[in-house]
Amino acid sequence: MIRAGASIVKGKVTAAAALTLDTPVQHLKQVGTRRSSLYQRLGIATVRDLLYHFPKRHEDRRAFLPIAQLQSGQKATVRGLISSVSMFRAKTGTVILQVVVKDASGTLVALWFNQPYMRRWFPIGSEIILYGTAEWMGRKVQMAVPEFEMVPKETAASGAAHRSLHMGRVVPVYPATSGLHQRELRTAVAAALKAVLPSLGDSLPAEIRERLGLLEFPKAITRIHFPPGPEAVTTAQERLTFDELFCFQLALGMRRKRLQARPGIAHEVQGDLVERWRKQLPFELTAGQVKAMEEIAQDMAAPRPMHRLLQGEVGSGKTVVATYAVVVAVQSGFQAVVLAPTEVLARQHALSLSQLLAPIDVAVGLLTSSLEEPARKQLAEELRKGNLPVLVGTHAVLEPWVSFQKLGLVVIDEQQKFGVDQRNAIVAKGDHPDVLILTATPIPRTLSLTLYGEMDISTITEKPAGRQAVKTLWMDSTRREEVFAFVKSELDAGRQAYVVCPRIGDQEGKKPKKDLFAEEAAAVQSVVKLFEEYKTIFSSYRVGLLHGRMNAAEQRKMFAAFKQKEIQVLVATQVIEVGVDVPNATVMVIEGAERFGLAQLHQLRGRVGRGQHESACILISDPKSTTSLERLQTMVETSDAFKIAEEDLRLRGPGELLGKRQAGLPDLKCLQWATHGPWLEIAKREAEDLLSRDSQLTEPGAAALKKETALRFPQLAGCA
Ligand code: ADP
Ligand code: MG
Repeated sequence: MIRAGASIVKGKVTAAAALTLDTPVQHLKQVGTRRSSLYQRLGIATVRDLLYHFPKRHEDRRAFLPIAQLQSGQKATVRGLISSVSMFRAKTGTVILQVVVKDASGTLVALWFNQPYMRRWFPIGSEIILYGTAEWMGRKVQMAVPEFEMVPKETAASGAAHRSLHMGRVVPVYPATSGLHQRELRTAVAAALKAVLPSLGDSLPAEIRERLGLLEFPKAITRIHFPPGPEAVTTAQERLTFDELFCFQLALGMRRKRLQARPGIAHEVQGDLVERWRKQLPFELTAGQVKAMEEIAQDMAAPRPMHRLLQGEVGSGKTVVATYAVVVAVQSGFQAVVLAPTEVLARQHALSLSQLLAPIDVAVGLLTSSLEEPARKQLAEELRKGNLPVLVGTHAVLEPWVSFQKLGLVVIDEQQKFGVDQRNAIVAKGDHPDVLILTATPIPRTLSLTLYGEMDISTITEKPAGRQAVKTLWMDSTRREEVFAFVKSELDAGRQAYVVCPRIGDQEGKKPKKDLFAEEAAAVQSVVKLFEEYKTIFSSYRVGLLHGRMNAAEQRKMFAAFKQKEIQVLVATQVIEVGVDVPNATVMVIEGAERFGLAQLHQLRGRVGRGQHESACILISDPKSTTSLERLQTMVETSDAFKIAEEDLRLRGPGELLGKRQAGLPDLKCLQWATHGPWLEIAKREAEDLLSRDSQLTEPGAAALKKETALRFPQLAGCA
């Protein structure tokens, strides 16, 4: 008989059987099979998961406070003797258990509700420790449902200090779930730590750890749960955050190296077509554009697939740069495709590209879902035969009936709106084509390191000369009349105005609803209401309405009407955030501005200041929180998109910054955006350094690190 085996079958492990990080959590006797489903709810399946279930905070329970000194509302630990226990029923029917505890300074009443069986847990005269929120009621302090622990008789008798997992120390407080209490979690974590510590290695090479002054892993994982003092948590967090970021950068780096090792197209970047195209451009390129083009030229010339992100604000001239890449592809005998997230944007790109390419006689096709037979069939034919060199389109381009004769370049605008699968689908229509992704969302470096870690990045920071700076004002809602008067004066001068409306259901600081459909419905409701109001106020002007529930044709009609000055005031939802270009519009009024994120406000503001006239953006807002206030102040003070993005990241985290477009954001558990930025840079540098010597971590010394990386980021570390 193999007895150890028998005990494992029952779901538990004998003391002799060694636990590892990979052991299922139910094998811990402090968890067991019965409770393990509660742990599953927290995403904890293995001992490793349990140890990586980090406390959300710690409570300092080292010092016991004299009862008489407690303040109402204070969370505190006290130690005293139980002097009486009573139970009664309140008028509401609640059974109240009342335990009176005394120390040398005063009396405290601890209360529990509807748990009569607890009564026998509190023998009179025994010593107890309580942790909870104090509340003065007349001359007594009360604690409702405190955490408690009896002091063992021996400790009590000797008067020695009492220290347990839960009291007399800095105690971890975990993200929990109903039915699974802090004490139980704490006990399980402590048991897991004790079991695995002796065999715990360190995946981080000692040389790196020492050079960066980081804690050893066993020490860090112990301290994150049970730190000797509150300050020790920081160094533990640093080490564990570094692990996460380092593995992440390794995973990205390895993937990047694998991508680079693939065969790609070596485009001809110098040639007659490119020459002619550049010569006829009606303006001087900005320094940023020139640099981005040089970077693209290098990538495209190399026999590897380009994987580059081009970021720059709306109006910074990305389209021109992307067009350059298109010309390079065409010159080399390849076709190029430009993918846009909406029909409106696709049309605009098609228009800009055909204007930019007309002087060199390169034709541009447009494909959206509204293209019908037989035009569709003809387009497909031209593409397949290679007669059409450039295609611009929406998701429709991804459909299987679209194929190219020789696709050499894929340009994707606003990439977060496209999923990885969609990106792969378009890339698969060529033989390792070069990929250029455009984004108008300025991404702070800390974030781009994680979001686009596997890509090369070109950034255009300046705008073409001649652009007007937009004067930004913030007014509270009592001053709306002034705003209207100002808008009217602009309209009378022949200019036009945008009015942007937030969603009605949204409250300041509240997370937007998950349900996109409901969200858009709420937005439409409120914009229609605002439209009615503006129609009254601006009764002698032509006011138009635009929102996302209007179909593409209606939207197009409204855009056109505004562009042709048939409409003077356009009341809209955020749909105007991207792709509207009306140089004659000089005012933007943003109602309820506190309900927008910084990045959104900045994007919206970019709709004005596009012509030769001075422009203004007026934020109407009565902010109720300091965060909102800071946001508005940032908007008034700066128009530097990267500064705004950094600020947004600091104030609201990456989710808000990227809006709903954060599909590519990795699940980084430790990273705190506000404080860990520098570690991201360090992790990237260290990863690059290591991979320059061992590009896929195949050397024996790196085995533990490779395993750790694969475990943490399986999608990245796995197949390319
Ligand atoms: P983005 O794609 O970044 O929003 P575009 O490439 O569409 O910006 O450029 C916005 C406008 O500025 C276009 O009308 C374009 O012709 C013009 N433009 C681009 N680059 C320059 C430049 N270097 N000098 C002057 N105008 C430019
Ligand atoms: Mg553009």
